[in-house]
Amino acid sequence: MSGTTRAATVAAIISEAAERLRAASVADARPEADLLLAHAAGTDRAHLVARLKDPLEAATIGAFRRTLARRLAHEPLAYITGHREFYGIDILCGPAALVPRPESELLVDLALAEVRARGAALRIADVGTGSGAIACAVAAHAPGARVCAVDVSSAALALARRNVEALGLGGRVDVGQGDLLGGLGALDLVVANLPYVSASEWRGLQPEVRDFEPRGALVAGPAGSEVNARLIAQAPAHLAPGGLLALEIGDTHAAVLSGIARGHFPGASVSVIKDLGGHDRVLLVRQEREAG
Ligand code: GLN
Repeated sequence: MSGTTRAATVAAIISEAAERLRAASVADARPEADLLLAHAAGTDRAHLVARLKDPLEAATIGAFRRTLARRLAHEPLAYITGHREFYGIDILCGPAALVPRPESELLVDLALAEVRARGAALRIADVGTGSGAIACAVAAHAPGARVCAVDVSSAALALARRNVEALGLGGRVDVGQGDLLGGLGALDLVVANLPYVSASEWRGLQPEVRDFEPRGALVAGPAGSEVNARLIAQAPAHLAPGGLLALEIGDTHAAVLSGIARGHFPGASVSVIKDLGGHDRVLLVRQEREAG
C-alpha cells in the first residue's frame, strides 16, 4: 500500500454501510444508510446525495460509526434520528412511545373527514396518544379543531407535550394523563391506536419493535384485543349521539371487536376498514343519533 491515502467519499461510506445493514437484515438498507449519514453529518438526504463524490471529515465519520452501530443493533431509525414524518408533519420520537406507523394515518384520514363533515367544534379525543402523533396530525390539518390527547404513561405524555410545543399546537392539543376514557366527558369523535398485540405475537415481532419500543404500548394481553375491548365497554358513557369511535385494531380482531361493539352499542352502526395492505385495520362505531 503506497501513495496517498484518500479520504473515504460519501458514496463509499454509504455503500459500505448499506452492505452491513443488508447483512444485518435491515429492510431498506440503502435509504436507511443515507438517512443515518445525513443525521451524523447534520444535513438532510438531498444535500448528502448532491455531494456523493466529496470526502467526509473524520468527525462526521466517527459520529456516523456510532449511529450505524446503533442501527446494526436494530434500534429503530426514528429513535436514532429522534424524529419521523407522519401525515405531513415532523414527529419527535423516543423510546417512551411507539414510532408512528404509516397505517395509523388511516385514523387521521377518518378523523379529518369527520371534522370536514361536522365542523371543527367537535369534541375530539386521541386515546393512548403516545408521542401525540395522531392528535397533532388532526389538529395540524384541521384548523380550529381541539383535541384531548390522553395516555397512561407519563413518559409518553412528556414526549407528546414536546411535540405539541414543537408544532405550535399548544392552544389546540390538550395533553393529559388518563386511563382510556376515564376522566373525559362527552365526545363526538374518539380515535385510538391502543396496544393490540398478543403476548405470543410480541415475542415474534422484529427486534426493532420487540427490543426497543415500549412493550406496554404494544401488548394488550393474551388475546391482543383486550384493551380495545375495554375502551369499547367504556365508550357508551362518553360517545355523544351521532358520535364516531375509530379504533386501530389487530388484523385478526375485527369479528370479536365488532361483536363486542354491537353488544355495547345496540343502535350503532359498526364497520371495519382495511389498510393499504388489505388487512382489517380500523373498527368504526357510529353512535345512533338521538331518537326524535
Ligand atoms: N402495528 C403495530 C405493530 O405492528 C402494533 C401497534 C399497536 O399495538 N397499537 O408493531
